[in-house]
Amino acid sequence: MTSHSETRLVGTGAATGVVIGPALVIASVKAEIPQSDNPLGAFHDAIGAVQSKLADLQQQARNAGRNEAAEVLGAQAQMAADPMLIDTITAKVNGGATLEEAVTETTAEISAMFAAIDDPYIAARATDVAEVTDHLRLWLTGTTGTDLATITVPSILLAKEITAAETASLDPKLVLGFVTEAGGPTSHVAIIARSLGVAAVVGTPHVAEMVRSGETVAMDGTTGDVVIRPNPESSNEFNARRQNHLAMQQDAAQYRGQKVYVGERAVAVPANVGSRQDVELAISEGADGIGLLRTEFLFLDRNNAPSEQEQYEFYKLAASSFDATVVIRTFDIGGDKPASYIQIGNEENPFLGVRGARLYAQETTLFASQIRAILRAATHGDVALMLPMVSQLTEVRELRSQITAIASQLSAEQIAHRVPPIGVMVEVPALALVADAIAAEVDFFSIGTNDLTQYTLAADRTNGALDSLQDPLHPAVLALCKLTADAAHRHNITVSVCGLAAADPAGAAVLAALGIDKLSVSARFVNPTKSVIDALDPQTANTIGNQALAAASAEEVREILAAGAH
Ligand code: PEP
Ligand code: MG
Repeated sequence: MTSHSETRLVGTGAATGVVIGPALVIASVKAEIPQSDNPLGAFHDAIGAVQSKLADLQQQARNAGRNEAAEVLGAQAQMAADPMLIDTITAKVNGGATLEEAVTETTAEISAMFAAIDDPYIAARATDVAEVTDHLRLWLTGTTGTDLATITVPSILLAKEITAAETASLDPKLVLGFVTEAGGPTSHVAIIARSLGVAAVVGTPHVAEMVRSGETVAMDGTTGDVVIRPNPESSNEFNARRQNHLAMQQDAAQYRGQKVYVGERAVAVPANVGSRQDVELAISEGADGIGLLRTEFLFLDRNNAPSEQEQYEFYKLAASSFDATVVIRTFDIGGDKPASYIQIGNEENPFLGVRGARLYAQETTLFASQIRAILRAATHGDVALMLPMVSQLTEVRELRSQITAIASQLSAEQIAHRVPPIGVMVEVPALALVADAIAAEVDFFSIGTNDLTQYTLAADRTNGALDSLQDPLHPAVLALCKLTADAAHRHNITVSVCGLAAADPAGAAVLAALGIDKLSVSARFVNPTKSVIDALDPQTANTIGNQALAAASAEEVREILAAGAH
């Protein structure tokens, strides 16, 4: 199994960073549940213990500012209390199965049921069921899982899969990176790694079997390259990659708080935020305001909607933290972001379903309370209001008139408020194709390249098997961005991009070249993105813009950009 020669593997890069360091292999424990005279009693004790353990871990993650891990753990705590799980295991034991059989079969059945549902969010719940029953197993066998809180040496963690619970207690300073066998770019570990700012490579088959704890591993979270027991040449190569990566980060640091231009044209770089911690990070990175405040985090991972006051407090905090514009997006629930208390008939609510602004006709009370909170917060800063998932003009008109009516109501109640500029996200190809008509009736556009790409290429954004189709630099997506930008400028409104494409150096360059006025990126990418824009001169921008639009594929666009950069 182990040899002394190096082994090179390629997984999927899920969080940037280049590191070389000692491996810590996390074994997956699967001990058999012992027979008991009172299996149901043992089970009910165990499920109670697991529920409170998950709730404690959720709290621990939240206290440590790890909202992503907290969200996952919250969902798992709910699942541990789910009658479907509890009743199925109970029925099987009552039917004569041992607890081991009942837990194993139930996990397999519920996981298979979730995995078969043609909705990536629900399919991902299969992992949660398995993690919950792993906790049950640990409790019932009296074993403990790997406690990552006990790491003492900074290490690269390798495992089949790393659970949300395992990451809740770890000290980010002792984690150099994660390499896992399972998972895609949107898996728990990928999201958590990005929020911790450490490198991650996922989808690397058999990696945990090929290495022993203490052996050296080199990894590149951008390319997905992993080298086990690197030889001297590979070590040099990865050290050079690491120096490059660090130099890029250092170069970026000098842009903190600076304005950047392509020739005379300013390109602002605000931040995307989805939590209080994100707002703090955006302030510390010197972001040019907030280009996308994802308000969903206030609505998800809980059993009821936030009150108007709770929302107002957060929006006010965000608004008063910046001199520049803070764009608050109304709740974009549905698709991969369901809220347990919002039910659309008996339907599932997939990406092509009732998501974003389409929900507001049904959720009138929730929508009104959010608009009231935003209009009130708008008196505390340069707030703008943005509507997600709009696909036609009638929706814009309808929602605008509702906002006006809510403003009149606030006036009647003598509550201080202001109607901010109202813009829409361009995420549906149809909207980009009628951008002129829309631009005449909104105050700004913000292109959501994540959704625009999935809808243009008919490739679900959470389906790892379609990774190669999810490149926002596909010329078709760029053409829609260009149509949107030109329509915006004909109507003297601004156009931003707030999808992940803006944080990709090649994406930032081509989008700035196509005339985008603002690139909104996660806070850690604000200054690297500014350095990309600053390096772009108007002539090069013009050439790469034209060539990219004439290209036949995303690969070709990337080649044009790589050549243009030299
Ligand atoms: C997008 O679709 O690009 C976007 C920014 O919105 P979200 O990722 O929240 O759907
Ligand atoms: Mg979107």
